[in-house]
Amino acid sequence: MGALQPPQGIAATVPFLDLARQHEALKAAVLADLDAVIDANAFTNGPHVAAFEEAFAASCGARECVGVASGLDALRLGLLAAGLEPGEPVAVPAATFAATFEAVAQAGGTPVPVDVRVDDYCLDAAQLPDGIRVVVPVHLYGQLADVRALAGRVVVADACQAHGARRDGVGAADGALAAAFSFYPGKNLGAFGDAGALVTSDGELAARVRALREHGQTAKYHHELEGWTARLDTLQAAVLLRKLPHLDEWNDRRRAAAAVYAEALAGVGDLRLPAAVPGSEPAWHLYVVRTADPDALAAFLRERGIGTGRHYPVPPHLSPAYAHLGHREGAFPVAERLSRECLSLPIFPGITEAELAHVAESVAAYFDG
Ligand SMILES: *Cc1c(COP(=O)(O)O)cnc(C)c1O
Repeated sequence: MGALQPPQGIAATVPFLDLARQHEALKAAVLADLDAVIDANAFTNGPHVAAFEEAFAASCGARECVGVASGLDALRLGLLAAGLEPGEPVAVPAATFAATFEAVAQAGGTPVPVDVRVDDYCLDAAQLPDGIRVVVPVHLYGQLADVRALAGRVVVADACQAHGARRDGVGAADGALAAAFSFYPGKNLGAFGDAGALVTSDGELAARVRALREHGQTAKYHHELEGWTARLDTLQAAVLLRKLPHLDEWNDRRRAAAAVYAEALAGVGDLRLPAAVPGSEPAWHLYVVRTADPDALAAFLRERGIGTGRHYPVPPHLSPAYAHLGHREGAFPVAERLSRECLSLPIFPGITEAELAHVAESVAAYFDG
C-alpha cells in the first residue's frame, strides 16, 4: 500500500472538499457528546440545542437563534413568521441555489427573480420591481449582499453560504429582519447531517418560528398555529456546538486559500476571478471562477486528480421546477452567464499550499496547452 502513496507534500490528488481533515481533531470530543445525548435520551430540544442557539446568536451579534432542521426550513419558517401574504411576490436573486425559490413558494409566496450584480453576484437592488415588500437576498458563495440597499423592505436573508462573513463591518445577519443559515455538512459550519437556524433580534418573530418548528405549539399540546416537525436535532446541535468555536479560524484559512488563488490565477487565460468587494471579508464558501468552457476545464483538472464543482449549472428560473413562472432564457443575463461559465475550485480549511499550487499550475497548464 505504502509504495503507491505519493511522496509527502506532493499533491497527487486534490479533493473538491475534504471534511475528514476538519473532523479529525474533533471526532473524539464529538463522540463523547453524542454518547451523553444518548444516555440522557434528550433527542429533541435537549440542552445542546439551547446552548448552541445561544452561542450561534452571540456569534452573529443577534438576540435570538432558532435551531431548525435545515436551511430551507429556516428560510421557509422565517418568511411565514414574517407575515408573508398568500401569493405575495418576493424578490429573490436569479443566481442562487434552488432552495431560495423553494422557500418562497412553500411559504405561500411567488418568487420574483431579479438579476445579480457582476461585481458580487448578489441581487441587484437597482433592478427591484416596483411595489416589492419582501426580499430574500442571497449571500452567494459567502460574499455578503449589500443589504443597506434594501432598507425599508422586509428582508429575510439567505445566509446559508455566509457563516462568519463580513462586509463594511457588519455580519451576515445584520441589516435584515432575519437571516437563515444551513448547517448541511459541506457548509462553512456543517453538522453530521441536515440542520439549520434562523437568526434574528426580533423576539416575536423568533417565538413564531419556535412554534412553527414544533407543530405550532407555544406550550405542550397548545397549538397556537399550524406548524411542522422542523426542529434542530439534539445530536446535530452537539456537533455544531463543538465546531462553532473553530468557525473563524476555518474561515481565515479559506481567506488565505482565496488569496493564493487570487494571486496565482490573475491574468490566466480568460478566467474571471471572484472579486473581493472592497470592505468585505467573504466566508469563501466557494471559490467560483468564470471561463468560456467550464466543463472542458473541469475535465482537464479531473485528469490531474483535481475535483471541481458547478454552482449552479442551471439557474432556478430555467429549471423545470419553475417553468410555470414563465421566465424565458435571456431574462436575467448576468445570472445566466454565471451559470454557463462558473467553475468552483477546491477550497476548504485544511487545503495545503501544495494542493493550491497544484490547482493553480494545472489551471495555467490548461490555458497554455
Ligand atoms: C445550502 C443552501 C440552502 C439550503 O440549505 P439546506 O440545509 O440544504 O436546506 C439554501 N440556500 C442556499 C444559497 C444554500 O447554499
